[in-house]
Amino acid sequence: MQTGGARTTMADFDVDLFVIGGGSGGVRAARIAAGHGARVAVAEEYRMGGTCVIRGCVPKKLFVIGSHVRQEITDAAGFGWTIPTATFDWPTLIANKDKEIARLEGLYVQTVEKAGGHIYRTRAVLEDAHTVRLADGKTVTAKYILIATGGAPNHGPAIPGIEHVISSNEAFHLDRLPRRIVIQGGGYIALEFACIFANFGSDVTVIYRGDNILRGFDEDVRTHVRGEMEKEGITILTGCTVNAVDRHGAEYTTHLSNRSSIASDQVMFAIGRHPNVANLGLEKAGIAINPANGGIAVDHFSKTSVENIYAVGDVTHRHNLTPVAIREGHAFADTVFGNRPVEVDHKDIPTAVFCQPEVGAVGLTETEARATFSHVDIFKATFRPIKATMSGRDTRILMKLVVDGRSDRVVGCHIVGDTAAEIVQAVAIAVKMKATKADFDATFALHPSAAEELVTMRTPTARYVREAAE
Ligand SMILES: Cc1cc2nc3c(=O)[nH]c(=O)nc-3n(C[C@H](O)[C@H](O)[C@H](O)COP(=O)(O)OP(=O)(O)OC[C@H]3O[C@@H](n4cnc5c(N)ncnc54)[C@H](O)[C@@H]3O)c2cc1C
Repeated sequence: MQTGGARTTMADFDVDLFVIGGGSGGVRAARIAAGHGARVAVAEEYRMGGTCVIRGCVPKKLFVIGSHVRQEITDAAGFGWTIPTATFDWPTLIANKDKEIARLEGLYVQTVEKAGGHIYRTRAVLEDAHTVRLADGKTVTAKYILIATGGAPNHGPAIPGIEHVISSNEAFHLDRLPRRIVIQGGGYIALEFACIFANFGSDVTVIYRGDNILRGFDEDVRTHVRGEMEKEGITILTGCTVNAVDRHGAEYTTHLSNRSSIASDQVMFAIGRHPNVANLGLEKAGIAINPANGGIAVDHFSKTSVENIYAVGDVTHRHNLTPVAIREGHAFADTVFGNRPVEVDHKDIPTAVFCQPEVGAVGLTETEARATFSHVDIFKATFRPIKATMSGRDTRILMKLVVDGRSDRVVGCHIVGDTAAEIVQAVAIAVKMKATKADFDATFALHPSAAEELVTMRTPTARYVREAAE
């Protein structure tokens, strides 16, 4: 067996880089490494593009956009439109979505091949620190190996009837729109699908074990989103879990820990995702797992416990988002093949929840800021969007800025309302640049817009001062 280090040269190996996983992180790393002159191979066991393109962000956003049309149609009446009764055809949505996903998959293949990389359309596992074994038994040796195998839905304990439960993977391929669906989970995937199904016309019940949905988000956001979703007719049951699921023909009965039960046509769990580390041969190569999160343990350069093996994206279970996987994959390629060490700064990553209304957030929540800074100013407003004044829709926007009272820096921004994700993407630049509240105040409002509220909130709605400990 060959070992890494100065004694070996790239020519001693079949390739310079072998990437396991053709998703967001793996493809970016492969392209950039090839651009730096590396001989690159990628193995993908399912479809090139990975979770984001095939069964994550992209198809989800297409569903969100499609489902939102219902609100547009309803809201149109207040503006004078008479629209004949609209009908919706689920199979058309699925077919058009599949066409678009296939197109994107093709682009991902092209990206790697145009850069000079070779794609093995098969599963790959580690044989040792420099050897990868493909499903047909063939082995490929590599100077460096990048593990970018992503994650998968985690259904939790094997409760009775778990085989009847679908995950987000299957939700993208249902034959028909369920008339009634029960969704267990309170995170972004559960809530996004709850709103998608509800807008397409399903009767939706969300079950969540905690006391409120969207754990980890700002408390005001959590309360606001829940209220808005409930106003749209979604039932949210917190403080309980699913104990069992029975099937009777095409119908399911979901039994809850609070002793009630719900009949539905579909049951979906979105209660978490686990990193794809099983049966990868990690032990054969001596790769350590991070005991804190179950992902592959890596340093600031995404290097594993083995000198020549790196891991990026969801398999490291750091921040499971596409732009993060991409940035980590790019940084790895620049560090190892571009002669330019790049550490990824994981601070101030903007996130969105594409429920309706949408959530956009960047930086610290109020709770986090109060635990970090001695002085915290909160600027918060809720108001009716201008569109609702004519459409009559019962909805309110939430805008919140969290400010370090001593430095005046805006350390958090949280928005619930239409286009919140678009607004927060731009605000994230200001937060990353360490803009102060005075900078926000000095910025002209763009009128009439919802986002102008961010530069017109002048008086703190709350001010917290923590006395220094004696
Ligand atoms: C429903 C859903 C919605 C999401 N929405 C968003 C969103 O709106 N915004 C956002 O930023 N993120 C979103 N995400 C998260 C995002 O999809 C992931 O963070 C991102 O895809 C991670 O990229 P990755 O490269 O680490 O892994 P992946 O994209 O998962 O790629 C890993 C690839 O490795 C392959 N693979 C695994 N094991 C092997 C093996 N042994 N051999 C060969 N191939 C293998 C898999 O088939 C897969 O294609 C969403 C995820 C889901 C599930």
